[in-house]
Amino acid sequence: MKHGILSYTQSELEGVFSELGLPRFRAAQVFTWVFRFGKTSFFEMTNIGKALQEKLDQMFHIYRPEVARVSRSRDGTVKFLLELADKNTIETVFIPETHRNTICVSSQVGCSVGCKFCNTGYGGFIRNLSAEEIISQFLAVKGYLHLWTPGADRLSNVVFMGMGEPLFNYDNVSRAIQNLMWDEREGLSRRRITLSTSGIAPVLERVARDLPCRLAVSLHAPNDELRTRIMPINQTYDISSIMKACKLYSEHHKFLKITFEYLLLRDINDTDICARELVALLSGVNAKVNLLQFNSWNGCTFKPSQRTIRFAKILQNAGLEAPIRTRRGEDIMAACGQLRTENAKKQ
Ligand code: SF4
Repeated sequence: MKHGILSYTQSELEGVFSELGLPRFRAAQVFTWVFRFGKTSFFEMTNIGKALQEKLDQMFHIYRPEVARVSRSRDGTVKFLLELADKNTIETVFIPETHRNTICVSSQVGCSVGCKFCNTGYGGFIRNLSAEEIISQFLAVKGYLHLWTPGADRLSNVVFMGMGEPLFNYDNVSRAIQNLMWDEREGLSRRRITLSTSGIAPVLERVARDLPCRLAVSLHAPNDELRTRIMPINQTYDISSIMKACKLYSEHHKFLKITFEYLLLRDINDTDICARELVALLSGVNAKVNLLQFNSWNGCTFKPSQRTIRFAKILQNAGLEAPIRTRRGEDIMAACGQLRTENAKKQ
């Protein structure tokens, strides 16, 4: 049976090559072909001898999901519906900005967390993605947008904010992150990879200790009562357990701010009282608050807040960094919480 080469770590692949009696640098050569030049066949790797090409082809495959559908937004955002080998579909979003290009990847097919404001959550959970499937989202996007060519834009930032709760698939997500930081692959620095979570406190503590990346916590409410109303997972992992794990993260990553995502929902969590409670909660935390504007979807009862600027001012006047994030991809249902495909609806 062939193994997926994308899921191998640097040391694992070098170990395989050394067992084959090959120098370690061959592993780096192979990944340069895959990640920098987009090759999907070992026979296209011209600086590797024929015998090794054949050997690698017998042992490994280079996985790339099918691009089943592409939607382009007026603002340049591109949403991909990717079909996996088992015909399940996931969504990946490319977000171009002036000084960076971000890819938003999925970590699961569906999601079990069930946030009330999230369209993806309503589709339910199907399965975890493998590390290979997570990494292959980069290759599919780079391939479709022709980002291999010299001088083409780079995928400079990665956010785990697509379908799924990454911390419920921790082993595969952490392997994918570590592989993406390897030079011969994407060579992304830890400051350019952001792991977003609804706050699975015990796993968050593992992230704090083991993963060298940025952290974004979907908070969305300043107290347990309100948070449980819109994020039932809060009954299991309440705000105090999340803040305890965040404290541990700050101890291990002294210079990295934690981003707290706060989706403003009209007359739910956008009052002055909520803003002041949020200030108090984050006092002493190395924090930044991303204020998100809600994008409505069919059948949803929540409405976008009309108090966004006032809410932001209260936070900013208290000394918190609290930018209002611009909506991206609204016209193609690609913004946060809208990653529910027509396919999922059919399923
Ligand atoms: S917001 Fe994230 S964690 Fe919550 S249901 Fe949606 S995909 Fe899952």
